[in-house]
Amino acid sequence: RFTTRFKFRAFNAGTMACSIFLTVNVLDRIFGSLSGQLANQLSLKLILAAGVMAFTHYLGNISLMTNLVALRNGQAFFKVWKDHYLWTIVGYLTSASAAVLAASLIAHLGIYALVALTPIVAIVYFTYSVYQRNIEASALQVEQAEQHLSEMQKSEARFFSAFEYAPIGMALISAQGKCVQVNRSLCEILNISMEEMLSKNFHSFCHPADQLHYKAQFERLLREELPSHQMETRFLHGSGTEIWTIASISLIHDPQTQEHHVIIQIQDITDRKRAEDQLRFDSIHDALTGLANRTLLIDRLEIAMSRATRHPEALFALVFVDLDRFKVVNDSLGHLVGDQLLREIANRMRACLRTGDTLARLGGDEFVLLLDDISGADEVAEIASRMQGAIGVPFRWNNHEILPSASMGVAVYDASYQLAEELLRDADTAMYQAKAQGKNRHVVFNKGMHTHAMKMLELEAEMRRALERDEFYMVYQPIVRLGNDSLSGFEALIRWQHPERGQVSPADFIPIAEDTGLIVPIGKRVLELVCIQLNEWQSRFKTSLPIVVSVNLSAKQVSQADLVSSVAEIVKQYGIKPEQIKLEITESAVMDDIEAAINKLKELSNLGFKLSMDDFGTGYSSLSYLHRLPIHTLKIDRSFVMQMEENSENAEIVRTIVMLAKNLNKDVVAEGVETAQQREKLRELECDFGQGYYFSRPLLVKDAEHLIFQMMTEIEEWQHLKKNSKAFTAKAVATA
Ligand code: C2E
Ligand code: CA
Ligand code: CA
Repeated sequence: RFTTRFKFRAFNAGTMACSIFLTVNVLDRIFGSLSGQLANQLSLKLILAAGVMAFTHYLGNISLMTNLVALRNGQAFFKVWKDHYLWTIVGYLTSASAAVLAASLIAHLGIYALVALTPIVAIVYFTYSVYQRNIEASALQVEQAEQHLSEMQKSEARFFSAFEYAPIGMALISAQGKCVQVNRSLCEILNISMEEMLSKNFHSFCHPADQLHYKAQFERLLREELPSHQMETRFLHGSGTEIWTIASISLIHDPQTQEHHVIIQIQDITDRKRAEDQLRFDSIHDALTGLANRTLLIDRLEIAMSRATRHPEALFALVFVDLDRFKVVNDSLGHLVGDQLLREIANRMRACLRTGDTLARLGGDEFVLLLDDISGADEVAEIASRMQGAIGVPFRWNNHEILPSASMGVAVYDASYQLAEELLRDADTAMYQAKAQGKNRHVVFNKGMHTHAMKMLELEAEMRRALERDEFYMVYQPIVRLGNDSLSGFEALIRWQHPERGQVSPADFIPIAEDTGLIVPIGKRVLELVCIQLNEWQSRFKTSLPIVVSVNLSAKQVSQADLVSSVAEIVKQYGIKPEQIKLEITESAVMDDIEAAINKLKELSNLGFKLSMDDFGTGYSSLSYLHRLPIHTLKIDRSFVMQMEENSENAEIVRTIVMLAKNLNKDVVAEGVETAQQREKLRELECDFGQGYYFSRPLLVKDAEHLIFQMMTEIEEWQHLKKNSKAFTAKAVATA
């Protein structure tokens, strides 16, 4: 009744049957038949029989029940017996006594005995119900214990597979640090076999640099100062490399053994760490050379400066390095070679560094060297010379040989510097000085240079004003036919009449105007002035003049997108035919962006403008493009012409350029002709035109006008002669 499970009902019935069978047998063996005894007085035998009956039944029944409960609960037999069944003996004794009593009463008194038995039945019932409650309670306990056990087994199995197949590495570690259990992922992450892991102390897999921290956290956990802890820790991979992980450790308590264990969970974040490191590295390094970038340089410079304020004896210096003619390499051989050269130069410089020095690339061909802990400017000069030597080793690329060189500016720190940028500025200024002094050298900054730089700034402002106040004017240098020295045209050259400084040479202000971009409006003004002049001369002589005026265009002007339209517009505005203007450009101006330049020059040529390649021979890049450029004239640079006599090599260069021009069907002009001998030599080489102090210095308008007048009258004379006489004079022929 007290259980619904068939298994228990069958068991109880079986138990009862066994113990009753046992009891009846035992009583029968000991006492024989008792039915005769019941009618007599209550004898000792009957009392004994009741006792034996109670005990045997108790033993049979209870031993089986106790066994069942003890096995189910996994408890000791005697504990179960003591807790649940010890006192049920009273029930058995009472029941046995009541049975004997009832039987003998019925034997004596017949049916009346039943009335007297009622209280005895009540006692028996009471005893029975106590017994039954006990049985019920123990059955319930058995059931609960069974359920608990199976749940425990299930959750243990679940935990085991979660542990074993978890995608993150896991280990169960004893309080002594030994690996008790590890999972597959952990073995895979660390690339260490399970046997090795289980044989060692877990600390030993930690990266040496992180071991102390790991151990400290492990100890704190065991002291129960924290329940769990998460940290970024490095471990050692089986191959010896390091692995970055997020490791979580937490304390667990084993209730059975009363021991502490630590469970560690490990997630591999090496890839993320590497990406982070790379990002950090990239943000402070130059991608092309791997050197420090501006940010890192300024950072180091600031550190050096703050250290120098604390220890004034700790000197340091900055060296600003700029490659000479790098642009030419880039333009002629392409950016790939340029990049290769930059990498090579970076490596060469790196090889000259001392520990503690910083080498940075600021971009383009600019490098900066921070020299730490130096004795003075002399030591820096020595290091700079060494670097120059290393940089100057020829660089070969395919069939090309490049001779690199660098100009360097040195600034040595002193207490007057407040900002890192100031030191950088001064090193830069000194570098410009090194360039101006002829490149491939180093110059140490002095305060005078700063004044010079300030002057340059001033000059820029003044040039702006000069444009507004119209302080620029043009002079005209004749270009003559070498055959008979007759005038063929002029080169227009700019002059600046400064209100205080007087004449300023274009060699001084044109480069600054180029740097600042001011050359663009100045160049426009030049073309305007030339057009105005041509216009005036034409109205004065009432005819279009048989001369061409050359106008210089700077590289900056050539690179302007609106070059063609702006030139065409000015010429149109003053009613000048494009054929009367020759635009002089240098090789470097074209090489900046060769394709765009070719297109612009073609357009200009199609409009009727003549084009001339100025300072020809000084750049070494344009030969391969020469046939594609719509150039009408080559102008041999004056450096070749001026040294023609002393240096036969130069004469050969002039000869070669003349031949080249003839072959390409171009005119050729020799610049810088200063002597009669030079003129003779040029005639001999069959050069068409000449320009130089030998013929005339650049002339003011009225003097140029005089020359034109002379030329025009000679032409008139010649035409007059032609009309009136059939016999030409030899002079007229020569003039023509
Ligand atoms: P450039 O275009 O090569 O001009 C020729 C320079 O050589 C002129 O100097 C001229 O005076 C000088 N020269 C002429 N014959 C001789 C000679 O026999 N011996 C010597 N030693 N020199 C001679 P300048 O006028 O001082 O001009 C210098 C440079 O300034 C020019 O070189 C040109 O690059 C630039 N420049 C001058 N005017 C202008 C201009 O209007 N626009 C632009 N963009 N640049 C200009
Ligand atoms: Ca020129
Ligand atoms: Ca020139």
